[in-house]
Amino acid sequence: MPAVIDESKCDGCGTCVEECPMGAIELNDKAKVDEDICTECGTCVDVCPNEAITLE
Ligand code: SF4
Ligand code: SF4
Repeated sequence: MPAVIDESKCDGCGTCVEECPMGAIELNDKAKVDEDICTECGTCVDVCPNEAITLE
C-alpha cells in the first residue's frame, strides 16, 4: 500500500514533499500522495514531524 497522509495531523510544512525521492507528494494546504508514483520507501513516514504519514 502507498503512503497515506492523515490530513487532520498534516500542517502543510512541506518536509515530506522535499524529502520524497520520487516526487510523489504534492502540497495544496495539505500533503497528498500520488499512489501511482509512490514506491513505499518510507522516507516520508520518517521525516514527518507530526507523524501524519503511515504505510499500511
Ligand atoms: S511532513 Fe507531515 S506535516 Fe509536513 S506536509 Fe508532509 S504530511 Fe504534512
Ligand atoms: S513512501 Fe517514499 S515514495 Fe512514497 S510518498 Fe513517501 S517518500 Fe515518497
